[in-house]
Amino acid sequence: MKIAILPGDGIGPEIVAEAVKVLNVLELGFETETALVGGAAYEAHGHPLPDATLQLAKGADAVLFGAVGDWKYDTLDRPLRPEQAILGLRKNLGLFANFRPAICYPQLVDASSLKRELVSGLDILIIRELTGDIYFGQPRGRRIATDGHFPGAEEAFDTMRYSRPEIERIAHVAFQAARKRKAAGGEGRVTSVDKANVLETFQLWKDVVTEIGLQYADVALDHMYVDNAAMQLVKAPKKFDVVVTGNMFGDILSDAAAMLTGSIGMLPSASLNDKNQGLYEPSHGSAPDIAGKGVANPLATILSAAMMLRFSLNQPEAAARIEKAVDTVLSQGLRTPDIYSEGTTKVGTVEMGNAVVKALG
Ligand code: NAD
Repeated sequence: MKIAILPGDGIGPEIVAEAVKVLNVLELGFETETALVGGAAYEAHGHPLPDATLQLAKGADAVLFGAVGDWKYDTLDRPLRPEQAILGLRKNLGLFANFRPAICYPQLVDASSLKRELVSGLDILIIRELTGDIYFGQPRGRRIATDGHFPGAEEAFDTMRYSRPEIERIAHVAFQAARKRKAAGGEGRVTSVDKANVLETFQLWKDVVTEIGLQYADVALDHMYVDNAAMQLVKAPKKFDVVVTGNMFGDILSDAAAMLTGSIGMLPSASLNDKNQGLYEPSHGSAPDIAGKGVANPLATILSAAMMLRFSLNQPEAAARIEKAVDTVLSQGLRTPDIYSEGTTKVGTVEMGNAVVKALG
């Protein structure tokens, strides 16, 4: 088993170092290899996803990814910007299914911007389709309008599209995840989020998810329009179990869900292809505002490493050990500044990583 380590930019190298430290202590015998990605790769090789990095990722069983990006690259041509590395990895590895659990740890219930009773015990899973939709649809571009409200004016356009097989495979992923959660004591319900009242793409989405749902009699299915889903996520988030949605709606809703848990610094994510090969990364970005200060929360990345062990490397016990260790350090009152509250102990990135290592026993 081989893990490709891609720390990236900003706080990426700081938080990935802590996750690697945790993995090393477990002595699972995996081979690891590190490569540059994002702005760091652009500086060294003139491209955010050099071929050597892509080949390493393709040949590995899993990729542990930090974060990429910095404001200073905002003026580069789009294909050279750090964020293109993520899109390139998703596309080339066929990573179509993005898992974002949003779990509110009891110890952090007061760090959420919502009232304690709304988020206490929250444990939902957002599954976002990752390689289709308006982010990848062609054609796209800028042109002079020949019709519409302002013929002759400059306009820009993108194409929203989903094919039946793309919807079928993400629907299967969602129903199977709900089934697994049910076996572990969960509710076993999928909420499919769409905009079928306005968009053809999402009418097909709804039709196909409904059809696939017939194959999972043990899992309940309901449908919700995305505007209502946004509202329900902040009104009564615990009503959800598994949410499945398209690329753009999932992008937005999963960030909203992140805040329910207190801090984006706590949220892991996994992006999988049909061979269970995956890219594991924290849900947040490179946080240039705090990079190099030693204060970034490494727990989202450490929890992403746990997801990697469970989903791609077949090590569920080791994954559970890491998750338990994270729970322990939170119970000990250790907090990075993003989750700090009065009465707890403020620690930095490295101290938090060390505490997790210690809690592994
Ligand atoms: P961000 O997620 O980097 O930061 C948002 C806020 O959350 C900042 O205040 C930051 O300090 C804080 N934050 C994020 N992670 C944290 C952590 N682990 N611990 C403590 N605080 C944390 O989003 P942004 O500021 O919009 O974007 C910064 C850069 O990251 C941009 O270049 C953007 O394109 C890029 N980005 C990359 C990814 C990725 O690599 N997957 C995702 C989102 C944004």
